[in-house]
Formats: sequence, structure tokens, C-alpha cells
Amino acid sequence: MSATITRKTLALTAIICITLLSFSQNKPDDGFLGKAEMYKSKKSALEYLSSRDIVEKYGKISDSIWYFAELGMQEFRSSAILIRTLEAEGFIVEKGVAGMPTCFVASWGTGKPVIGILGEFDALPMISQQALTSVKSPVIAGAPGHGCGHNLMGTAGIAAVIAVKRSMEQNKIPGTIRFFGSPAEETVISRPYMVRDGVFKDVDAVIDNHASTNFGTGYGVDGNAVISAVFTFRGKTAHSAGAPWSGRSALDGVELMNIATNFLREHLFYTYRLHYVITEGGEAPNVVPDKASVWYYIRNTDERIEEMYKRVIDCAKGAAIASGTTLDTVLVLTGVHQRHGNKGMAETIQRNIELIGMPEWTEQEQVFARSLQKELGQKEDGYPVKLNPLRSPSSVQVGGGSSDVGEVTLITPCATLNFPGGVPGMIGHHWSAVASYYGPAAWKGLNAGARVMAATALDLLTMPKLLGDIKNEFTEYSKIHPYKSFLPAGAKPPLDLNRQLMEKFRNAMYGMDDDN
Ligand SMILES: [Zn+2]
Repeated sequence: MSATITRKTLALTAIICITLLSFSQNKPDDGFLGKAEMYKSKKSALEYLSSRDIVEKYGKISDSIWYFAELGMQEFRSSAILIRTLEAEGFIVEKGVAGMPTCFVASWGTGKPVIGILGEFDALPMISQQALTSVKSPVIAGAPGHGCGHNLMGTAGIAAVIAVKRSMEQNKIPGTIRFFGSPAEETVISRPYMVRDGVFKDVDAVIDNHASTNFGTGYGVDGNAVISAVFTFRGKTAHSAGAPWSGRSALDGVELMNIATNFLREHLFYTYRLHYVITEGGEAPNVVPDKASVWYYIRNTDERIEEMYKRVIDCAKGAAIASGTTLDTVLVLTGVHQRHGNKGMAETIQRNIELIGMPEWTEQEQVFARSLQKELGQKEDGYPVKLNPLRSPSSVQVGGGSSDVGEVTLITPCATLNFPGGVPGMIGHHWSAVASYYGPAAWKGLNAGARVMAATALDLLTMPKLLGDIKNEFTEYSKIHPYKSFLPAGAKPPLDLNRQLMEKFRNAMYGMDDDN
């Protein structure tokens, strides 16, 4: 009897197994969409982005943001133009996110998975420059300019989420697509506050992007963590000649602090970077300054930064004692981690870079690129034609800079796409970059970047196994590198940052043409 049952059970099990096996063979190898369906979902997004009108539409938005050239925390026009475009496409936009007026989150769709794209739109001070010119020639001397291509990046991000939304609608793809409008990247301000406010808490994966001179992506640890802080000293005014002994110079406090930190350099681990500007140092030599401030960027690896920061504070305390002043405040503006790129995300982005390929450049565009390269003393080989391979992590630290995208990489799977559009050999944060992040060649780079991001987002939305593997990689990594904010308790985003500087130039910059 029992033997019969066993035989029957075995036979039944075999039938079930065969049925399941054949069922699974009929199913697509990954995800709920078949290959043809998946192809269709990408195709409709890519077709939308590829039309000439659309390349131009987003190109012009990017050029407007280039022209606004608004500094971090003051990007009112730049964020407004992106928000308007998203709302016209049916996105629900939450504004004033994480206590920052120019920070916003745009969402379309419902439920899981939630895929995000990051975008920035702030400019840099002092580097105003005419577009597409190969000699230094500012639009307004001393005014801000887009020397890091952030005008292209926010725009590429919205172009991508709009293309994805259109495909989700047409092909009935479930889930949510989201754009994270992130102000003040140049001063790495917004993301630590966005993370602290839980802005990314239900996101499954995030695609970051940065304008560049070629396509590229990579994974692993990159760049430096940074703590940005303003040290303010208080002293006593006096007649600098009549009775200097009655005064205590707050500027002495600042200068002694800088001397101390410059001696500190010798004993810091070589991964450090340390730099400052004096933001306030008195008004006239004949009045001993009673208030002076210095703004520091203290950079090192995630593991070393907090100890280095403490030593810089000790330099400030020592300087106060030596100068007879007081260290009045240490205002931490922001604190961010190194970038920890997710390998699965980077591999997915790389596959889509290879799918989309390099834009084709016209001879006229190549002429401009080569003339700028000549002016800068660089190799005159124009815009690139070959794609870069996937970048694996370096065994030694190669990048000293920082990005607040680092915060996002430690709380959700994230990797950065670099897209072309800038002239190879141009210098970042310099007039040559401002000159080249404008006009048709930059538009093509923006558009190619948007296509890679849209295709990547659609992969993540339609392939649960791919997204699951990426999330598993992140979960394992988080066990070794759990997230802990570098922001002190009660830290607030510095909303007044750049206000005066922007107000100083706004009229001169927009007086001539106040459109858009
Ligand atoms: Zn940048």
C-alpha cells in the first residue's frame, strides 16, 4: 500500500515538475515582460527621445538653465523650468523638499518598484563665459557660469523620466518613476538633508548622472568624504594705530587657524584634501576686526574624516587661545560620504551605453572642439568616437573631490552615468567648460545620456530578477558599510548660501533678456 502511494506520489510529482519546467521554459528568462515586450517598452521610450523636436526641446531647456547660471540654493528659475516641464507631463511634484525651496521630487505611477533618477542644476561662481567660443570672454565679468554641466544633467534626468513615463503608460508597466531635483551639488549640500528627511526611503534603485566628455560608468568606492564648515572668531575692535593693545583681532584667530591647519597637513594620511577661503576678515585696516570667518572643506575617506575634522577643530581652538579671541561658532553646512557605486547598477548602465552608442558629431561641431583644444594646448582630436569600457574600482584613491551623491549610494543601490557633450581637454570649473556645455553638440550628449538612463530605468522596472540581484548586492554591502550621517544634530541647510552673490549679478545677467 505504502509502496503504491509512493509510486503514485512520485508519478504525480514528476508530472508537476515537468509541467512547471515547461511553463518556466515558456516564460521569458527574466521578468514579467517577454523579450519582445521588453524591447517594445525600451523602443517607445527611445523613439520619443530620438525625435528631432524632442532633442531640441530638452536642449533649449538646458540652454535656458545655462543662461540662468544660478548658484546653489538660489536655483529658483532653473528648478521652476524643470518642474513646469514635469507637471505638463502629468508628474506630481512635491516642492520645497527637506526644507530647501529649490529641492523637489516628481513622481509618476503607483506602487513598486520605485525607480529614481537624480538631477542637479546649480552653477559655479566667477566663471561667466560666452557659449561656443574658444577664447576666454565672459558674458558678465565675475558672474556665475555652468562650468560643470549641471544645466545638462537636471534636464537629461527629466527627459529620461518623461520618456519612461510615456513607455509605462503605453506598455502598461506597473511601478513608479521618480525624479529627485537636487539643489546645490557644487557645495554638496542637498543630499544629506534629503536622506535625513527620508526622501529616498521607498526607492528601490537610483540612477545618477553627470555631464562629461565621454560615456562612462563604474562601481566601487570613489572620491572623498567632505565636511564643509564655517569657523567664526570674535575679538574686540580698537584703533589699529592709536590703541592696538586694547583690541583683539578676530582675523588673527582666522590666520593662526590657517597656519595651524597648514602645519597639520604633514601629519595627515595622504588621502586628505584641505582647503579654505576667508569669507569675512574686517572692513578696514585701521579698525581691529572684531569678527572674522573662514570656510573650510575638510576631505578624507569615510573612515578618516571624522578624526581629521576633530584635529581641525583643535587648530581653531588653539588659534583662539593664541590670539586672545573666541571661537564663536562652527557652522557645519554639510557632511557627505564617498561614493559607493553599485556594481549591478553600473553593469546595467554600461549595457545601455553600448546599446545607445556615441552621438554623431557634425564637422562644424568638431571644428569648435578642435579650436578650443588648440587654445587650451590639448590634443586636437575633437569630440570622441569610441566608448569607454566599464570602470572597475581603483586599488588606490584617485579622486580627491566629493559629491553628495555619496549619501544616496549608501542608502539605496546607485551608480553614476557620465555622458558626453563637453569638449575633451576642457577644464572643469573653468570658462572652457562653460563655453562647451551649450548648443547642439551638448544637446546630443544630453539626449544620449537621457536615452541610457531611460533604458536603464525600464530594465529595472521590468526585470524583477535584475533588480532583486542589485538589491541583494546592496544589502550585503550595507552590512559592511552601514549609513551614519555626518550632519551634526540640528544641522539646517544653509538657505542663504550664495544669496548676496546671486543678487549682485541677477540684474546684469537677466536685464537684457528676461525670458524663459
Ligand atoms: Zn558637477
